[in-house]
Amino acid sequence: MKLTLAIQKTGRLAEDSLELLRKSGFKFEITDRSLTFSINNFPLEIIFLRADDIPEIVADRVADIGICGQNTVEEKGYKVRELEALGFGKCSLCMAYPEKQKKVSLSGKRIATSYPRLLGKFLKKQKISADIVDLSGSVELSPKLNIADCICDLVSTGSTLKNNGLVKGETIFKSEAVFISNDQISTEKQALLDKLLFRIRAVLTARKYKYIIMNAPRKNLNEIQKCIPGLKKPTIASLFADTDYVSVASVVEEDFFWTTIERLKEVGASGIIILPIEKMIL
Ligand code: ATP
Ligand code: MG
Repeated sequence: MKLTLAIQKTGRLAEDSLELLRKSGFKFEITDRSLTFSINNFPLEIIFLRADDIPEIVADRVADIGICGQNTVEEKGYKVRELEALGFGKCSLCMAYPEKQKKVSLSGKRIATSYPRLLGKFLKKQKISADIVDLSGSVELSPKLNIADCICDLVSTGSTLKNNGLVKGETIFKSEAVFISNDQISTEKQALLDKLLFRIRAVLTARKYKYIIMNAPRKNLNEIQKCIPGLKKPTIASLFADTDYVSVASVVEEDFFWTTIERLKEVGASGIIILPIEKMIL
């Protein structure tokens, strides 16, 4: 028995999805034109699809699990379970207006989007009545072509909007890539899925942390400990032939050191080394 995982063939989620599998210790080789491939060291088959088709494929049990954007899961509305947010493919579904038009009322406007369901929900909640122009692609061109007055589209950096003379407006949905599964998975498959998720979660947890090692004066250990949030149980090792200094090592959250590095140096820390962690099981 095998699990089948659907991932995007080409596009914004494709590389990161494969990278997550690789980092989680799944071994595979991909030949250029293949639409499916097997993992060598786990009962897992991968199928490549368009990101938009993944929720339906998982809901229909053609695949047991999948990786796609939350935006797609919400828009399609199929019954699937969202198991884990993956921290990549981050984007927002936003309103955007032609530069000259600036901010106007949406009431009675033609709004082009590939997300009619999410936009419809937003408009309903805001009690706005407007025309939704449902387009499957190139939404950003529609105001220029006079098909729409403004648009509602996915934005990450905003450069596509800018290149098309559009200004970002209100955000209606925030999204990132998620791991989804069919909601009626067999007990045997669930056992495999638990093993697979365990590995993936070890990689996701590790991404949030770094390993820090530094030399510090023994007398300032209290100060050092105060500088580093989460440094509750550091490993303290003596330095050979030096009784005044110790080596301090701990796991810390990624963002911490840019805010406290100055203070650490002030209290005498030196030789500070920060290392990535590959896998972490809490
Ligand atoms: P295609 O563009 O090939 O028709 P697609 O739009 O489904 O297909 P991508 O453009 O690769 O494929 O987008 C896939 C997913 O990547 C989106 O559904 C979304 O979750 C995520 N994403 C992240 N940033 C962006 C962005 N700036 N624009 C669009 N999608 C983004
Ligand atoms: Mg696209």
